Amino acid sequence: MSLLHFLGLTSYLNMSITDSRKKGSLSKKLNRLAQAVLANEGLLNPASVKIKKNNGSFEIPDCGTCEDRCCVHKKRGEGILLSLRDIAALVDSGLGDFIIKQFTFKKKKGKVLPEIDQMPRLQSKDGNCIFYDEQSGLCTQYGLRPIICRRFPYEVAYNNTKSGEVPIVRFISGVPCPKNSISYYGESVRQMVNDAIEDENISFEDEELLPGYHEELRKMGFGPYLPNPEECPP
Ligand code: SF4
Ligand code: SF4
Repeated sequence: MSLLHFLGLTSYLNMSITDSRKKGSLSKKLNRLAQAVLANEGLLNPASVKIKKNNGSFEIPDCGTCEDRCCVHKKRGEGILLSLRDIAALVDSGLGDFIIKQFTFKKKKGKVLPEIDQMPRLQSKDGNCIFYDEQSGLCTQYGLRPIICRRFPYEVAYNNTKSGEVPIVRFISGVPCPKNSISYYGESVRQMVNDAIEDENISFEDEELLPGYHEELRKMGFGPYLPNPEECPP
């Protein structure tokens, strides 16, 4: 099976095949807190976010020809960043041991600010993501991959217009990502667009929940991924 088959077009056709994130105990608790705190307020509605076309066509990553795979971090020396939702899905699936580091908050003049500084990550092995299988070139936890992997190389950006900032989804420019163009808005693009919007909403959720509700998060089981209470915003 080619990487293109696994990561590219066909992988986005059916979410029931590629999304095996379990809605276990930690995910359900997090969802309840997010619903109570945010009630969808401030979240982007996928139906109202446009996708940016390039030269009249949509773009898809050409993972099959890619020599700089996003699962291989030799050049970047970094692990995959994890949101609260990613952490909950991994813990609920018994893969919490592969999470390293913690959320941290920015500091100014010794005071902890309500702004996220660092995020937990997926472990790396030999410079690759711990879930990357070098021999096959595939993700061994494809259905469970974090949201940043799901939406890459698409992202939400904001256009400044007379009526304010308008969100759009676009193929990230400047990333070392070979791509193909297609002239129709197919399921493959739709899935990446939806994942980019979900990632944006998850980032917003984390920015709201982590500074304001770290005690509740600690009680529900996120303690290993949070700094000590004195290193959290008051
Ligand atoms: S960098 Fe782009 S083309 Fe390469 S593996 Fe990642 S998504 Fe696919
Ligand atoms: S979780 Fe899977 S898709 Fe994401 S970087 Fe690791 S191997 Fe790649």
